[in-house]
Amino acid sequence: MKIKTKLTLGVGLLFILIILLSLVGARYINALKNDTENILVANYNTLEYCRNMLLALEDSSANAAKKFEINLQNQEKNNTEIGEKEVTTELRNRFNDYKIGKSENHVLTTIRTQIFQLMNMNMQAIQRKSEVAKATADKAVLWIAITGTLCFLIAFTLLVNLPSNIANPIQELTESIEQIASENYAERVHFESHSEFGQLAKSFNIMAEKLEEYNNSSLAKLMMEKKRIETLINNMHDPVIGLDENLKVIFANEEAMKIVGVPKAEIVGRYSQDLSVKNDLVRTLIQDLMSPGNGVGTKTKPIKIYSDNKEGYFDKETIHISITPTGEQTKKLIGHVIILRNITEYKELDFAKTNFIATVSHEFKTPISSIKMSLQLLENEKVGKLNDEQKNLLYSINDDVTRLLKITGELLDMTQVESGNIHLTILPTDSRDILDFALKATKTQAEQKYIKFSIDCPQSISKVQADQEKTTWVLTNLLSNGIRYSYDNATINIKISEADTFVNISVKDTGQGIAPQHKDKIFDRYYRVPGTKKEGTGLGLAISKEFIEAQGGQIMVESEFGAGSTFTLMLQKAT
Ligand code: ADP
Repeated sequence: MKIKTKLTLGVGLLFILIILLSLVGARYINALKNDTENILVANYNTLEYCRNMLLALEDSSANAAKKFEINLQNQEKNNTEIGEKEVTTELRNRFNDYKIGKSENHVLTTIRTQIFQLMNMNMQAIQRKSEVAKATADKAVLWIAITGTLCFLIAFTLLVNLPSNIANPIQELTESIEQIASENYAERVHFESHSEFGQLAKSFNIMAEKLEEYNNSSLAKLMMEKKRIETLINNMHDPVIGLDENLKVIFANEEAMKIVGVPKAEIVGRYSQDLSVKNDLVRTLIQDLMSPGNGVGTKTKPIKIYSDNKEGYFDKETIHISITPTGEQTKKLIGHVIILRNITEYKELDFAKTNFIATVSHEFKTPISSIKMSLQLLENEKVGKLNDEQKNLLYSINDDVTRLLKITGELLDMTQVESGNIHLTILPTDSRDILDFALKATKTQAEQKYIKFSIDCPQSISKVQADQEKTTWVLTNLLSNGIRYSYDNATINIKISEADTFVNISVKDTGQGIAPQHKDKIFDRYYRVPGTKKEGTGLGLAISKEFIEAQGGQIMVESEFGAGSTFTLMLQKAT
């Protein structure tokens, strides 16, 4: 039965029973009222009149007859019982006889007898009527009890059944919904009834079934995708390690396992901080992740790793994974992926190239130097006089030789830098000395283009902690670039100043400047701004950067394309 019908029936039945109970009660109360009224009006009054008439008979006063007359008149109007009227008429006749004085004693006795007869008649009637009233009361009690019991039984049944009838399925349904919410899609509800709950259960079960089906299908798909990605990562030739936001290892491929030298079971699921205690490589890999800022923007050097009994070089790349959770605005870091790119092959090629350049430039340097010496001898008049044409030839040979010497020098320096063999002699040095040497070295070059130097240097300046020879080479290179890339008759401004723990030497020219897209690349090896017509190797600034950074300093450039550039050397103050 439907809940709605159940409620309507239960409440409706109660309503009808309450009305029935009220009607039965009202009916019997009314019947009892009629019964008692009947006794009062019909019989009690007659008894009262009779008593008054008897009292009047005993009374010897003048108005006794009058009193009797009034009560007799009242009684004549109140004849309610069978035979009462005849007795009353007889009483009237006797009283009339008494009034005209007929055989007084005999009449009085008759009157009294008739009054008693009337009283007797009414008392019997009272008794009879009270029996009737009692029967009515008994009947009322019975019917009220029957309807009351019925009401109680129905109300009790409703009280016991109706709340549980409604609440139990709701509770069961709530529990099942909670199960579904906690992803237990196998949950079902079983309501046997044909009520609305039955339909609700049916719909709920269909929904749960569909959710289960969907979940199973998406889970299978997800598992498939997971397997695919795992296989993909495992088949990668580069070692890959995935960490969560707390640096716990989530996955690591075969290659990673090989180089770390720990079996999969001992690495996956463990905190890399714990692993790093025993494993140097893990420590190196997560070093930048442990530092504040997660090492963002830091460029790491290739890592040398021994695995499979051979030495390998790996370029480390750390990718920080962030997602925007559904319904949220801000990104949240969920982990990191460390990829180690195997660059051993390139590194070996690089070594071969460096060795080749080093050997070639070293072998070239001695003959070129002797050519230069021979040229200087030839220029000497004592050796023999040269004509103008020969002199011109010698000048141009000298130029070429100088350039060749510079190139071989730079290449040799570069090979030193690349093989990590820079030998620095860092001592407290006066920056003005460095500047003087550099100015002397570039004096002739500047004069050829009519370029002037403007120097701004304070009287006293702190000494710098630097390798004098190498720093002079760097400043010479900067001045030489300034001259080469400036127009004739220009002025190059050189400024020495102090700031915090550094002494800054800046070289400002008013030449062609460097376009923004090339600014960061000019310190790369062999990089030359496209379209640069002046001769060069593109190595000067790269070597300069290595030399300066190796002694704890910095080199930077500011430039406005078309207006000139300012190169600044930041050298550490000597303490
Ligand atoms: P190069 O031997 O080519 O001068 P550098 O490493 O010294 O090699 O410089 C790299 C490139 O940077 C140069 O080719 C040039 O294009 C640019 N560059 C260097 N200094 C300046 C400067 N003062 N003004 C404009 N461009 C410059």
